[in-house]
Formats: sequence, structure tokens, C-alpha cells
Amino acid sequence: MNIVLMGLPGAGKGTQADKIVEKYEIPHISTGDMFRAAIQEGTELGVKAKSFMDQGALVPDEVTIGIVRERLSKSDCDKGFLLDGFPRTVPQAEALDELLSDMGRNIERVLNIQVEKEELIARLTGRRICKICGTSYHLQFNPSKVEDKCDKDGGELYQRADDNPETVTNRLEVNMNQTAPLLAYYEVKGALSNINGQQNIDVVFKELDVILQNNE
Ligand SMILES: [Zn+2]
Repeated sequence: MNIVLMGLPGAGKGTQADKIVEKYEIPHISTGDMFRAAIQEGTELGVKAKSFMDQGALVPDEVTIGIVRERLSKSDCDKGFLLDGFPRTVPQAEALDELLSDMGRNIERVLNIQVEKEELIARLTGRRICKICGTSYHLQFNPSKVEDKCDKDGGELYQRADDNPETVTNRLEVNMNQTAPLLAYYEVKGALSNINGQQNIDVVFKELDVILQNNE
């Protein structure tokens, strides 16, 4: 099962990604992890990517796509994968289709977790993050057991400086404008499924699960 997971910041992508990879036993491939691994392993593309990042420049698509190709060729992707954070643009989606087609594969399902902007603003401004492990919590929706302390390691929880309402609103609008053409691209292909993310976490997962089961 080759899946792309989409959703605006705060839509609950991370939580649902964890549940999907556990049930379907496929790797969760986020762009950040993929870059970090390539850089750490010192692959040719990793070194290239790092040189752009060190200059504070955007990594060009050809490098990013090369890294995606390397990652998807690894044996843990034989049963499928869950892509998260890639593709971001239509040209990247086209390049992804092309490289998968070279491998005799394709994107079988694009899951888009939908949440209204006002709800996302409420969610994002209540977010608290562990200083040690980066786990996110939420004051209302997912509080830590002990106030201001991480459940996993007791690390102090903090609010990111850019989680204030104006920055959050701006970030969401930029993100919505960026992803709209990508959603349209997958909709035309008949690969897009929208899921209402304004429900209980388990209900959202159940809906995702039904979509994936019907896809098999
Ligand atoms: Zn922690």
C-alpha cells in the first residue's frame, strides 16, 4: 500500500501516521527524517542536500527527488510506505509518479485529513512540545499526565514562539495556498480521499482504515 498523507499543520497527521504504520506495517517516511538519514549516511545526495541547507538555501527538487528515490528503494518499502511532507508541489508529485512508475509502482491512495481553519488555530496555539524528545502535547486535546512535563521522559514542555495566533494563521494560509493545487492534482487522478479530522482520534483512524481496506 503506497500512501501519501496530507493535512494542514494541526490536523493530526502525526497521530494518524503512527496508527497507520502500526497497523499496515509500512514505514512512515517524513521528509525531515529522510533528509537527516541521507545526511547521516553521507550518501552523495545527502552531502549535496546538506550543502544547500548549510547555505540556508532550498534543496532543489532534483536532489530531494533523488533522496526520495533512494529511500523508497529500500527493502522496508517492499510492502508499501506512508509518505508525509512529500510531495509539496505538483512538479514534485509528477516526479514522484514518474519514479514510482520506473519501479512498477504507483501512489494508491492520498489521505487528506481536513480540519477547519478556526479549529486548527485553536489546536495550534494550545500546542506544547517536549524540550527533550520533541513530542507534542495539547493543553485541551492531549494534555501530559503531569502539567508541563513530558510523559515519556519528564522533559519540560514549552510553546513554540511561532505558535501565536497571527503566526499560526499566516502559516495556515500559506500552507493552504501551497497544497490546493496538489490536492486538485490527486483528485483528478481519483486517488484523493478526504477525511473529516474534526472527530475523535479513533473515529478518524477508523475512517482512514476503511478507505485503505477498500483500496486493497
Ligand atoms: Zn519528551
